[in-house]
Amino acid sequence: MTNLALFAVKTNKKHNPMKNIAVIGGGIVGLAIAYKLSLKQECKVSVFEKEGSQGQHQSGNNSGVLHCGLSYKPGSLKAQLAVDGIKQMVDFCVQNYVKHDVCGQVVVATSEEEINTLDNIAARGKSNGLKGLKYLSKLDLKQREPHVNARKALLVPEEGIVDYKGVMEKMVYKIKEAGHNVFFNAKIETLVETNNELIIKHNDKEYKFDLLISCAGLYSDITYQNLSKKKRPLRIVPFRGEYMRIKPEYHELVNHLIYPVPNPQYPFLGVHFTRMIDESREVGPNAVFALKREAYTSKGISLPEFYDSVTYRGFHKFIFKNFRFAMREFASSMSDKSFLKKAKKLVPDIELNMIERGVAGVRAQAMNTAGDLIMDFRIEKTDKQIHVLNAPSPAATSSLAIADYVIENYIN
Ligand SMILES: Cc1cc2nc3c(=O)[nH]c(=O)nc-3n(C[C@H](O)[C@H](O)[C@H](O)COP(=O)(O)OP(=O)(O)OC[C@H]3O[C@@H](n4cnc5c(N)ncnc54)[C@H](O)[C@@H]3O)c2cc1C
Repeated sequence: MTNLALFAVKTNKKHNPMKNIAVIGGGIVGLAIAYKLSLKQECKVSVFEKEGSQGQHQSGNNSGVLHCGLSYKPGSLKAQLAVDGIKQMVDFCVQNYVKHDVCGQVVVATSEEEINTLDNIAARGKSNGLKGLKYLSKLDLKQREPHVNARKALLVPEEGIVDYKGVMEKMVYKIKEAGHNVFFNAKIETLVETNNELIIKHNDKEYKFDLLISCAGLYSDITYQNLSKKKRPLRIVPFRGEYMRIKPEYHELVNHLIYPVPNPQYPFLGVHFTRMIDESREVGPNAVFALKREAYTSKGISLPEFYDSVTYRGFHKFIFKNFRFAMREFASSMSDKSFLKKAKKLVPDIELNMIERGVAGVRAQAMNTAGDLIMDFRIEKTDKQIHVLNAPSPAATSSLAIADYVIENYIN
C-alpha cells in the first residue's frame, strides 16, 4: 500500500465521538455494563447507586450459583446470554482472583412426572450448547451426594459457585481505576432531558450525559416511568426468597449443588441445596410475595408499594391462576416444618434440628397485565435512555454477556 493510500485509510477511519454515559444501579448488571463501557476509549461512565455500597440488593443476596443455561427456552435471550455469560464470569474471576468453583450440579427427579420433565430439560440443555451432561448411576450419585433421594439424577458439570460480592467489589475497583465515577448514596428519581443531553443532579452538582442506562432491579419499572415519563409496560412484583442454613456439624449432607427439577411454569428454580463459596451450606429459597420491594423479613411492609402490587390487574390474574403455588410458598415462610418438607424431597435425612433460619433475598420479577411472569430478560430503549426492565436469575451469572448485548444492540 502506498503512503497516500495509507493516509486515505487513516483519515477515512470512522472516529467515534466521546460518549458520556450514566448508569443507574450498582448491582451486578449495572456494574458489568459500566465495567465493559470503561474498557472503551470513547466512553466516560458514571454509576449512580442509591445505597452506601454496591450489591446491597439482589446481586448481594442470592444463591451465589453460576448457572450455565440448562433449562432456559432455546433461542431466548436467557439461553444465549447464560452460555456466554458463565464463560465470561469464570474468566473474570480467574483474571481478578475472585473465589469460584465450577463444582457441578445434580438435578434430581423424584417422581415419574419429574423424570419426563428432566429428560426435556436435558434436551434443552444440549440444544443450548451445554457440555458433559449425563445421567448418574445409583453408585455415581451415592459417591457424589450420598444423602440424595433420586429416581433419576442429571449431572450438569458446568454449573458452579462464586463470590458475587467479590466480583462486584472488583468491578467497582476497575471502573474507578480506569478514571470513571461510581457515586454511592446517589438515588436518581428525576432528570432533565433536552434535545442534546440528559442532566442529572447529585449532591447539588449537575452532571450532563448523552445517554442513560438504568439497571434499577427491584425499581426498574418505577425508574422507567419516572425518568422516561412513559407508562411502564410491565410491573415488578417482589418475591422474597428465604434460606435456611445447615448447621456446620451437618455439612456432610451436601457436597456440591443439589437442585430439584424446575417447574417450567415459573422462573423460580425451587428449594435447592447449595455449598456456598465460603463452605457454608444453604437450603432454599422459597418464593413468597413480599409486601415491600426491599422486604428482607416477613415484617417488612410499605403501604404504597403493597398497594402498587395488589391493585395491578396482572397481580389479580396471577393469584387466580397460581393460588395453590402462592399458598404453598407462603406456608413455607410461616412454618419451618413446611419448608423442611420441600427440602426433604431431595435430602430425606435432613431434620429440623439440623437447620436454622438464614438470610433472604428479594427477586425483582416482572409481570404483565395477563398475570404472566415474564421469564426472559427485557430491555427497553427510548431516545436517550436504555432500561433493563427484567433481569431475573441467571442475570448475575450472565451480567457480563448482558453488558455486551446492551452495548452492541443499543449503543454502538
Ligand atoms: C434469592 C435470589 C437468588 C438468586 N440466585 C441466583 C444465582 O444463584 N445465580 C444467578 O445468576 N442469579 C441469581 N439470582 C438473580 C440475580 O441475583 C439477579 O438477577 C441480579 O442480581 C440482578 O442484578 P441487578 O443489578 O439487575 O439488580 P440489583 O442487584 O437489585 O441492583 C439494582 C441496584 O439499583 C439500585 N437502585 C434502584 N433504584 C435506584 C435509583 N433510583 N437510583 C440509584 N440506584 C438505584 C439498587 O439499590 C440496587 O443496588 C437470584 C436472585 C435472588 C433474589
